[in-house]
Amino acid sequence: TERMISSDLADEDRDEYSLRPRWLREFIGQAKIKENLSIFLQAAKGRGEALDHVLLHGPPGLGKTSLSLIIANEMNATLRATSGPAIERPGDLVAILTNLEPGSVLFVDEIHRLSRTVEEILYSAMEDYQVDIVIGQGPSARTVKLDVNPFTLVGATTRAGLLTSPLRDRFGIQQNFTFYETDDLVEIIVRSAAILGVSLDLTGAVELAKRSRGTPRIANRLLKRVRDFAQVRADGHISKEVAAAALSMLEVDALGLDEFDRKLLRTLIEKFGGGPVGVETIAAAISEERETIEDVYEPYLMQHGFLQRTPRGRMATRAAYEHLGLTPPPRAPM
Ligand code: ADP
Repeated sequence: TERMISSDLADEDRDEYSLRPRWLREFIGQAKIKENLSIFLQAAKGRGEALDHVLLHGPPGLGKTSLSLIIANEMNATLRATSGPAIERPGDLVAILTNLEPGSVLFVDEIHRLSRTVEEILYSAMEDYQVDIVIGQGPSARTVKLDVNPFTLVGATTRAGLLTSPLRDRFGIQQNFTFYETDDLVEIIVRSAAILGVSLDLTGAVELAKRSRGTPRIANRLLKRVRDFAQVRADGHISKEVAAAALSMLEVDALGLDEFDRKLLRTLIEKFGGGPVGVETIAAAISEERETIEDVYEPYLMQHGFLQRTPRGRMATRAAYEHLGLTPPPRAPM
């Protein structure tokens, strides 16, 4: 089954360009990032220079792609978007870089997944706006330097720790996304409802916000599913009751955990005595990729105090037992 609260880019999100904030003033929450960026943007514009390279890290669905679009718009620059896995060979990246217009923003999603040889091309491009290419083979091979127009690299990654340090050090601006507060999500949901023409009241928005895992993409996705429910089972209006009923039908619980989160916790508790157990073992037990567990499930479960990462492995906390209606053993961590 498709994960309801998955924060991967699903097809339906791709049509929803309309929900994407395009300007910094439309970008809700993440006050610190916004404040920092608005200063850097204004300063770069004042000097007539490209903005320094920007590294954005944080779990999926929190607005990294949106912010790259905003940076390009605010700088009045062209945006070129690609991703780490999409750039297979060094030549692919050289082609992209040498074709950038002056001042462009190059967005590279999942930048931690660039291969090492591709990544090395970026070093001199970022530092000196130059790339080295090798022409010919064997003893007659020589290196030629090509100029690249000044540009801003915006890299996005789920965890900054996944980047090599030579790459990380070349980003002058590094910003960390945190899960959104309920208030911010309410604002995002109200904005999205207005754009989509959905009728909803504040209590309905709050109910949705509380169950969105602190993630705008999930908030928008839940809004659309609940809209369907309201249309078919109610009078089309999203009240608190309608939102709660729809979300429980979708098996998203009061804290925003879905069946997959609960399966992880239940497996940890029932198969492994609450841990500690290695993430690879959990991954195999619930047939999920390790990276997804670490980037999507765990940050939220840890924020809510359901899971602890210890040197010996993952452990379910007392709160996790209680949330599942189980009695925690005395040795379960708080
Ligand atoms: P990421 O690149 O971090 O995975 P996206 O930028 O694709 O996340 O955000 C997913 C969706 O969530 C966007 O299409 C947008 O509709 C919504 N969104 C994200 N951040 C915000 C925000 N700060 N304000 C309003 N909507 C947002």
